[in-house]
Amino acid sequence: MIEFEINHKNLEIDDSDIVTGMTDRHVVEWTAYESPGVCKNIFIHHQLVNPLNELKSEAAKEGFNLCVCSGYRSFSQQASIWNGKLSGQRDVLSSDGKVLSLEGLSDFQKIEAILRWSALPGASRHHWGSDIDVFDGAAMPNNYQLRLVPEETIEGGMFAPMHSWLDKKLDSDNGFFRPYNIDNGGLAPERWHLSYAPIARNFANLLTPDLIKKCLMTHKISLHATVIKNLYEIYRRYIFVDIS
Ligand SMILES: [Zn+2]
Repeated sequence: MIEFEINHKNLEIDDSDIVTGMTDRHVVEWTAYESPGVCKNIFIHHQLVNPLNELKSEAAKEGFNLCVCSGYRSFSQQASIWNGKLSGQRDVLSSDGKVLSLEGLSDFQKIEAILRWSALPGASRHHWGSDIDVFDGAAMPNNYQLRLVPEETIEGGMFAPMHSWLDKKLDSDNGFFRPYNIDNGGLAPERWHLSYAPIARNFANLLTPDLIKKCLMTHKISLHATVIKNLYEIYRRYIFVDIS
């Protein structure tokens, strides 16, 4: 028994590269969508394959085509989103999904604006492969450009029926939940973001401010110094998810 506990601890320590997006050793390819013009294959945690297939086939019985547009994302992919938003190459969105100008904002205000919708590199739940962004392929018109904005998922939105079904489904004990369902003034509520608790729980426990700091000291991102200076506040408002 003691030997098992030691091994288990070592495993957790070694998983810090997964938690911060430094590796893809935990993910496998998964067919996310099978229509031309939309992203087809993504990567997810190998232990998510069966539960996700199960959820997808249950959705299919109700007439929904539960597709995933985003699964695993590496640190460098997240850093390119982050840096692109700060350089103006990518749009930064306001709380209601409109394009926001960063002009005139302080460095920390810029960071706050980006964190409303995008995770800090090294602290994204998408690094873990346990978290996915979903939409209903059956409800999406041809040539529609998926936006992943609240209006698509709330009442009246094209994906609302599938999300209403998910509301009931996630209440049951199948392991999936929405970590960003409530607006706590930090992260915006993302109805499309699902997490698989049996995998994500362990990674969430490993994601501490110290681990993020260690990661960002060796892998620099734009406004790196301001992030480090305000890391505890950022962690509290935008990273920590209370799922107790
Ligand atoms: Zn997401």
